[in-house]
Amino acid sequence: MYWQEIRSTGLKTLLTKSSIGLICDFDGTLSPIVQDRERAQLAPGNRELLRQLQKHLRLVALVSGRAVADLSARVGLPGLIYIGNHGLERLVDGQIVCPPEVAAYRSAIKAVLNAIHLEKQMTLEDKNVTFAIHYRQAADHEAIQTTYSPLLQSLADEHGLHFSQGRRVFELRPPLEINKGTALASLVTQYGLDGLVFIGDDITDADAMRTARQLREQQTCYSVNLAVESEEMPAILHDYADAFAAGTSDVTAFLAWFLDALSAS
Ligand SMILES: [Mg+2]
Repeated sequence: MYWQEIRSTGLKTLLTKSSIGLICDFDGTLSPIVQDRERAQLAPGNRELLRQLQKHLRLVALVSGRAVADLSARVGLPGLIYIGNHGLERLVDGQIVCPPEVAAYRSAIKAVLNAIHLEKQMTLEDKNVTFAIHYRQAADHEAIQTTYSPLLQSLADEHGLHFSQGRRVFELRPPLEINKGTALASLVTQYGLDGLVFIGDDITDADAMRTARQLREQQTCYSVNLAVESEEMPAILHDYADAFAAGTSDVTAFLAWFLDALSAS
């Protein structure tokens, strides 16, 4: 089911709420996936839509796997809440805030970085308290997975880190119960949200969607989860999405509709 089909049901209920938030992933959600992730940028129209939506919403937050400094520089809108590293760091008054138990894992991250050797067309993203290895540009994605997935899993085990995989990316991070779901829950509490839309496209977004679903079931906050459809979309998002957007351009269409609907209500 696409989001257009829940305009008169779930989204209509959401619009009756008084303190609504929008929480979005960045890559593959607000920004089309590109071969070179350094070139990723907001899809046309999204910056202005986010700017306008801020006027009608209690909260507009971006929650990404990118380092928070990278994320905020790419979006460049003041007033938005930026959370990076899948919830591990946050930008507060221009300062990067990271819990001390997260920073303690920097030496383990460095040890693994020193132990791995990457093939051509694999790129390393050192995000300080986590790191990611991207292989979208490699010719044979399956061969990379077959070789590197067990290797990184064993290095993660050896150094007490958590290993995970996303869309053409491997990630290692501290084994802490901090993720996009805990980030979403803390935003709901901090901003007193009684309604929220979450939009995401990848495996770590499932944590946020699961939490959003729980908050709705507990009648704490009425949530609507939108998953961005793609060939690479992990199956788990089917379990938690209330509706789908047909790619990033349809996310832009949703934001435009949402702005109109909020302006009219
Ligand atoms: Mg994404």
